[in-house]
Amino acid sequence: MPPIIQVALDTPLHRTFDYRLPARVAEVEPGRLVAVPFGRTLQVGVALGQQADSAVGADKLRDVVRVLDDRPPLPPEILRLARFCADYYHHPLGAILLAALPPRLRNATPFVADTPWLALTEAGRTAQPPARAKAQRALLDALRAAPQSRGALRLQKQTRHAAALVAAGWATWARLPPDIEATAATAPAPPATPEQQAALDALLPALGQFGVQLIHGVTGSGKTELYLRLIDAALTTGKQALVLIPEIALTPQLEQHFRRRFPGRRFALLHSGLAEAARAENWLAAPEADIVLGTRLSVFAPLPRLGLIVVDEEHDASFKQQEGLRYSARDVAIARAKQAGVPVVLGSATPSLESYAQALNGRYRLLELRQRAISQAQLPDIELVDLRHLPVDHGLTRPALAALAGTLARGEQSLVFLNRRGYAPALYCPSCAWVSPCPRCSSRLVLHRTSQRLKCHHCGFETRIPPECPNCGNPDLKALGQGTQRLEETLAAFLPTARIRRIDRDSMRPRAWAELGEAVHGGEVDILVGTQMLAKGHDFPNMTLALILDADGALYSPDFRATERLFAQLMQVAGRAGRADKPGRVLIQTAFPDHPLFRHLQRHDYAGYARALLAERRQLDLPPFTRQVLLRAEAKTMDAALAFLQRAAGLAPDAPEVSVFAATPAPMARVANLERAQLLVQSTSRQALQGFVRGWRPQLEAIRPRVARWSLDVDPLAF
Ligand code: ADP
Ligand code: ZN
Ligand code: ZN
Repeated sequence: MPPIIQVALDTPLHRTFDYRLPARVAEVEPGRLVAVPFGRTLQVGVALGQQADSAVGADKLRDVVRVLDDRPPLPPEILRLARFCADYYHHPLGAILLAALPPRLRNATPFVADTPWLALTEAGRTAQPPARAKAQRALLDALRAAPQSRGALRLQKQTRHAAALVAAGWATWARLPPDIEATAATAPAPPATPEQQAALDALLPALGQFGVQLIHGVTGSGKTELYLRLIDAALTTGKQALVLIPEIALTPQLEQHFRRRFPGRRFALLHSGLAEAARAENWLAAPEADIVLGTRLSVFAPLPRLGLIVVDEEHDASFKQQEGLRYSARDVAIARAKQAGVPVVLGSATPSLESYAQALNGRYRLLELRQRAISQAQLPDIELVDLRHLPVDHGLTRPALAALAGTLARGEQSLVFLNRRGYAPALYCPSCAWVSPCPRCSSRLVLHRTSQRLKCHHCGFETRIPPECPNCGNPDLKALGQGTQRLEETLAAFLPTARIRRIDRDSMRPRAWAELGEAVHGGEVDILVGTQMLAKGHDFPNMTLALILDADGALYSPDFRATERLFAQLMQVAGRAGRADKPGRVLIQTAFPDHPLFRHLQRHDYAGYARALLAERRQLDLPPFTRQVLLRAEAKTMDAALAFLQRAAGLAPDAPEVSVFAATPAPMARVANLERAQLLVQSTSRQALQGFVRGWRPQLEAIRPRVARWSLDVDPLAF
């Protein structure tokens, strides 16, 4: 009887599948990729275990078609991390393992890895070939200076000597080139500021063991500089650093910055914007790299010598994947650091309340940088433009237009920021500032125009639209957040000489972003109009005005995280204005100038606002003081989606510590011709909630007939 292996496949089922090994293969190590028949298709799966027999009848067992030894197996640390994810996110292990691989390596067609560099091995450093092997000695000496490319060796007719060195174990073919380019333009570290030094004094001794460090530093305070020094310390001990960043668009500038600082070090970039082949090559090269820099998916990169993880802009929502395995790369990074026994450094000017609460309660170490690293760069003035008392023309007030015109006249640049993300309209009264509250919970009711009703997306309450303000009787109720669609045209009409660029996509390719950056730096743009993408990363020294329109929708959004996000965005936008020697100015048009968010914002007071929001969350039993899991369903009709969720609620295990809310339509109820609904489950105990979902999930799988597609979202960010 040939050995049987258990294979994890990318299916929705929480199980492995047994296959027979071909006769000529005696053993397959865990993590090895195999091609197996599944139904009528050939699938790539991951071998997990091996045993002599199977519960499946021998006549039903099928054979492994091919063991994919053209690529390395998934290393044990990735198998372990995937197991954590399967358990924590209640997602099938096979689906996680295959998603952790770059797409090209999930494909059974033979893969020829490119190893264009001949590099010295550890043994090669001190090796002494016999004196008569002159050519080998010369090549070894050359390698001690720098790796040599395969092409150059061929030209110099050295291929045979190279092969001899490889056979002797003194050299090896490698994927990563030496960093020749960067060596030319090395940027030494500036002396640390006193605040940076204090942070380093605390952080450096913490290297070498697990711990979560939160660096809260105002924009421009030199957080990146801190990461660089910590990475340097990790690399010096022969370890690898993993740096996670939220946006692909930010990789080129950060990469360049890093390369200048670490000449000769090997880099691997990982993000979904790379071509498939490049992504596979970089993933395979990750074990050799000193620094792996990438977006959320790089948290699953193989890193045998991991010594440090950095999560930059840790508050950023793009660390959360919103489909398939709905993981938070920040949280998985923390789990990975814990498994590997290494520190993880989270950094932000506006930490997530989840992280900040952990820092306040002492579970994370909090380090603060309160001042900008370059002292003449001042934080900008933040002014509010009160929409209640000013006429608004196509979304713009006169002070806003005057500020734009003045900036244009001085030859400086402006940024006009629209906050349209997660937009859900609420009803409000312009005379008393009443904003449709839900009578049953802390949420705001959402205006559904077509059905002429107000609905709560948190608890499911609904009611008809009131004819007048229930608070003051004003019959002229308005919807929040309208009329910015034609903003670019409006600006062009008011300021005909201005060169305006609009960015309306949420994600931008690195090249497009670099091109835009050059245009702004080169003075080819006067006004930049865009969404939250503009709040990130870039340094535009001549951008002295930031104008914020349409922020009010978030102030009274049904999403309890909307104010946290708005505050973070506005802090980041404010951080863009006036970074160099020119003072910056931020103007915000709002109908709610008395909202506490603005009070804290004007004082650049993240900590104060974070504490206020946390107090509110604690009182209302919201995250981070409670844990949530969202059951999402989508179906052809809303009735079918809701009916599925109601059945699911009926099958919920009995758990006194867990609250199961009513099924409600999702805020974005219709997407791609499917109706979406959701059901919230929460508990103050993570363990109770995890146990509950563990018992619940098999019940959900058993619901027949299956009219809806469903998924579980642990720690949901967007409702
Ligand atoms: P952050 O990541 O906190 O926004 P950066 O690390 O990008 O801040 O630093 C902001 C600016 O200050 C950059 O231009 C950087 O080169 C500079 N800077 C950082 N640390 C120092 C330092 N110790 N001495 C001089 N300049 C510094
Ligand atoms: Zn009113
Ligand atoms: Zn409600």
